[in-house]
Amino acid sequence: MENLQTNIKKAAKKSLRYLTDNRKQAITALFAVILVFAFMIISYSTHAYSVYYNGSRIAVVRNLQDVTKSFNIVENELGRNYRQDSILVDSSITLEYQKAAAKELTNISDITENIYTAGIKPCVKGTSILVDGTLIATAKSQKDAKEAVEAAKMKQIVIGNNEELISAEVNEKVDFKDEIVEVSQVQDFEGTLTLLTAGMDTGEDYQIKKNDTIWDIAVNRGMSIEALGNANPNVDLESLSVGQTIKISEKEAILSVTYQKKALESEGIPFQTTFVNDSTLYTGEKKVKSPGIEGIKEKTMLYTFLDGKKVSEERTAERVIKEPVNEVVSVGTKPLPVFQPTGKFVMPATGRITALYGDDRGDHMHTGIDIVQWAGSPTGVYAADGGQVIKVVIGGYNGGRGNYLEISHGNGISTMYLHMNTISVKTGQSVDKGQQIGIMGNTGRSYGVHLHFEVHKNGIAVNPNNYFGYIRDNLSVRAKQN
Ligand SMILES: [Zn+2]
Repeated sequence: MENLQTNIKKAAKKSLRYLTDNRKQAITALFAVILVFAFMIISYSTHAYSVYYNGSRIAVVRNLQDVTKSFNIVENELGRNYRQDSILVDSSITLEYQKAAAKELTNISDITENIYTAGIKPCVKGTSILVDGTLIATAKSQKDAKEAVEAAKMKQIVIGNNEELISAEVNEKVDFKDEIVEVSQVQDFEGTLTLLTAGMDTGEDYQIKKNDTIWDIAVNRGMSIEALGNANPNVDLESLSVGQTIKISEKEAILSVTYQKKALESEGIPFQTTFVNDSTLYTGEKKVKSPGIEGIKEKTMLYTFLDGKKVSEERTAERVIKEPVNEVVSVGTKPLPVFQPTGKFVMPATGRITALYGDDRGDHMHTGIDIVQWAGSPTGVYAADGGQVIKVVIGGYNGGRGNYLEISHGNGISTMYLHMNTISVKTGQSVDKGQQIGIMGNTGRSYGVHLHFEVHKNGIAVNPNNYFGYIRDNLSVRAKQN
């Protein structure tokens, strides 16, 4: 149509030039121009196009700008509906030339209506993200697309306190391609990110809720139960309890990320132990004299992660923050004590039992056993058990005890040996079980050579037979010598 108008103008200019050159010719020319005009006016008045869109006839117009305007109206309306700045509608139309009277022409409002009725595909400019050539998502803009890839990458990266990200890269080839796509294919930022992070192990945990089954948990994430099992090697998936957390590791990630981080970590330095001799402790005894204190060192680690899993680590530096303090252990050098109470007694003398514990002595009860020398039997007296001599009394009547001694065996138990002729041990001395401690005699209230033997428990005389079990009156006994 523009061509047509231009042609008319050109023709008019031409005719004016003819007029100035040659009047006769000019008149002829003018006539010709008028003829052309007349023809054109007639032909222009009926000249029209049928406009087809998506196979439907949407308009009959003389001026195609009416169609363009209508598409613009549709695009603006859609833009408001989709809240998008620019919605583009595929406006490829086909034309069919026809003649039409003015009343047959379609007005803009009807064309607009017809465009909708013919079915439109609202399109928009977007940026497609291709990962190794595969379309993953289309973002609203190049900026959104790049930020979503960056965010997806960062989702795999865990940086803790005292850690620093050194490098991070996506292992796939990621391309961004600007194109015009249907509105429904374009994702907002969150949607783009979701598509990019599908299958990515973001180290997320899942907390078991009531009525959860392992099947549901797996299926809802497109995982196999086996994959869930592999992600939780130390969890019995058959018996999960509410509140328990398990690792969710999904399908293979779309973006594989390798990153390196530097970490400052402290580590204990074990202390050494030194030993010092201590004469106040028995041989074999040990005592911590001063406790050891662990030292601390700070190390710089370089970790490499692939898809959330640590694949290598390297110690790049190390320094001691605090030296350890050695533990000092005292080691006993004192000879072991000779006595070793066994709790079981041996017979302290040889002879015949002539009096038992509990015998009635008129004004008192007999508080021990009497072992009387018999037919020249040996007179040695021996410690009934290992222990320490706690009392030796020699000389004097001593309330009838004569020469006597007492040996402590620990645990509140002691033994007493009365009427001794001689005593061969000293107070404070340790004696072994069965070690000779003297010779029986006839000192104190005694009528013949014999040993009066008592057992005391917490200072009170108890029946010695509790410790022998076989004593009876008139029994011949033999001392068990060491
Ligand atoms: Zn007695």
